[in-house]
Amino acid sequence: MKRITIAIDGYSSCGKSTMAKDLAREIGYIYIDSGAMYRAVTLYALENGLFGSEGIDTEKLKQAIPNIQISFQLNPETQRPVTYLNGKLVEDRIRSMEVSSHVSPIAALDFVREALVKQQQEMGKAKGIVMDGRDIGTVVFPDAELKIFVTASAEIRAQRRYDELKAKGQEASFEEILSNVKERDYIDQNRAVSPLRQAEDALLLDNSNLTIEEQKQWLAEQYQRVIHG
Ligand code: C5P
Repeated sequence: MKRITIAIDGYSSCGKSTMAKDLAREIGYIYIDSGAMYRAVTLYALENGLFGSEGIDTEKLKQAIPNIQISFQLNPETQRPVTYLNGKLVEDRIRSMEVSSHVSPIAALDFVREALVKQQQEMGKAKGIVMDGRDIGTVVFPDAELKIFVTASAEIRAQRRYDELKAKGQEASFEEILSNVKERDYIDQNRAVSPLRQAEDALLLDNSNLTIEEQKQWLAEQYQRVIHG
């Protein structure tokens, strides 16, 4: 069967990853969460004291980039990919509020994007990949056969992230999450390099009022249409 590239972009916490991961598993494609890569670089910067009172130490981070190795492995229990940073499992730590509130300025740095986009393009060379993020359909894979742009209201997205953190037993405040979601939307949409925007040929999915099952169904239909269309 024809193997394609599937690009799923959209706002933070809009359920992109859940549907992208499940589709990839069902159709036997690789799944890459590009946000996890920006989060891993952010964790590295936090752990190495690169956030100072005067902002990010960009010179040090630039030098460190070649030494930041990010990889994914399947968790044998859940069959879902988890993130490793320089050989250490960091999946839970990259989802913390601390990383969430520092990631957007890191993702706005041109040299960080350049390095990660290169790795992402390499991962997708053989097709048969579902990648989610902010710039996948516009920058990473502009020729992707299927592009989706996902959105939902900020309140709904904050509630989902709140429920997710609570379920993992992590401390969370709804107000703090909502302001983080809005702040990341703003930075992601207004940065100079690869701002978040819908590719002209992307299909729009507003999932504010859809269940996870309904959106999975919708995505599977889009995939079938491209494959058989
Ligand atoms: O998708 P997730 O919310 O985990 O992404 C974390 C952050 O990484 C986003 O808020 C955004 O700033 C950045 N990001 C990006 N480009 C991508 C994926 C994520 O700038 N392709």
